[in-house]
Amino acid sequence: RGRLRVHLRATWLSGKTRPMEYRVAQLEALGRFLDEKKQDILEATASDMGKRRWGPEGLFELGLVMERENFLTSKFWPFLQVTQLDSAFIRKDPYGVVLIIAPWNYPIHLFLVPLIGAIAAGNCVIVKPSETSKNTERLVAEMLSCYLDNDCFAVVTAGVQETTRLLENKFDYIFFTGSASVGRIIMTAAAKHLTPVTLELGGKNPCYVSDTCDVQNVARRVAWGRFFNAGQTCIAPDYVLCSVEMQEKLMPALREAITEFFGSNPRESPDFGRIVGDKQFRRIRALLCSGRVAIGGQTDEKERYIAPTVLADVLPSDPAMQEEIFGPILPIVVVANMDEAIDFINARPRPLAIYAFSCDSKVRVLERTSSGGFCGNDTLMHVTLTSLPFGGIGNSGLGKYHGKFTFDTFTHHRGCLHRNMGLEALNALRYPPYSQQKLGL
Ligand code: NAD
Repeated sequence: RGRLRVHLRATWLSGKTRPMEYRVAQLEALGRFLDEKKQDILEATASDMGKRRWGPEGLFELGLVMERENFLTSKFWPFLQVTQLDSAFIRKDPYGVVLIIAPWNYPIHLFLVPLIGAIAAGNCVIVKPSETSKNTERLVAEMLSCYLDNDCFAVVTAGVQETTRLLENKFDYIFFTGSASVGRIIMTAAAKHLTPVTLELGGKNPCYVSDTCDVQNVARRVAWGRFFNAGQTCIAPDYVLCSVEMQEKLMPALREAITEFFGSNPRESPDFGRIVGDKQFRRIRALLCSGRVAIGGQTDEKERYIAPTVLADVLPSDPAMQEEIFGPILPIVVVANMDEAIDFINARPRPLAIYAFSCDSKVRVLERTSSGGFCGNDTLMHVTLTSLPFGGIGNSGLGKYHGKFTFDTFTHHRGCLHRNMGLEALNALRYPPYSQQKLGL
């Protein structure tokens, strides 16, 4: 691992990754990987957590093809065409040798989107996929080296111990996606070398539903966002805040939406996934003893199945409200009104996303709270726009990416000035010895 990093640093110093033609060639190679291995990718993510191969969950993994196309064809490149003849300019330099650490829940998407940006920006990269999504980890470890230049890009497979050792090395940038607790470890390790970091973390995303909403539409949009990928999505609505009257109306509507999506027995549905591992299954199952199980609640440890579940009358002190759920459980916490919902949100760490369903008050929720992102009258959809920055704030993360923001994340904006060698008489004014006379005072 140490040798690998030294090798990549030597390549970096040789300047190999800098020419635009080189970057384009590597991005095209990544494109071939995605095209040629599409089936294997969908197969691997399906075996890791039962994502349906051709459903939106599987396709989301491959949706980043678009991201790559952006870099190949569009507006990002002109940012590199600095006006070298001008006396002052910003040079968009790569950082150097970058480390990307990915989680398991969208093991391809969250691994390749930053990689594409890091290549486009001209860096050498070591990527570490999650050991939890082992089929995907194996696939990228075996396959990516057949497509990318091995002098500049490497996949490292590592568990906690090896990653800890890897982090002892100096990198020029670290891009981490995962939990807040590991985020702290990453930032501490990076601080030893003063390495800049992006931390894409998680947390509990509140979803406020006002009394004025069309309850059927709210139920469908909330259920889709919560149960997508069996709840294992960092921006999933983690809990609902609404009035007791709205809770009454939401319950039958949520039941209807769940049946519409997954049938009367979601366990049989090819569109409803499984929890990634036994440890995660047990942690999520323990959260079921919160409030009252109003919908679902069935579990099967052998299959790591947890039914789409809605918990009613959940109290802030219940287990489901103490940690990010990251599974198919939706608690509903009753509040008196929007002001109480806002106070509830503001009394907790700043989330990655806030959702507000309302005809009239969603803007007030937006204005009086703080979060990484915000989506009014829907869930998850803001992440699909590459024109929007994606990232957390406070406990939910540091830095942003997607689209042009990914390119900027992996780019050092170097302020430069080229001076004319003539006109020395003007410079004499700033050279010592100083005198009032020289300055004409
Ligand atoms: P995790 O923090 O356990 O692991 C993430 C990565 O860190 C993995 O590659 C893992 O091998 C590595 N890692 C784990 N422990 C480590 C340690 N002690 N030292 C060094 N490296 C270590 O997270 P996870 O379980 O893979 O993912 C779930 C979390 O990620 C959730 O909190 C979720 O909200 C968050 N997440 C955030 C985003 C985002 O874009 N903000 C996206 C997906 C997931």
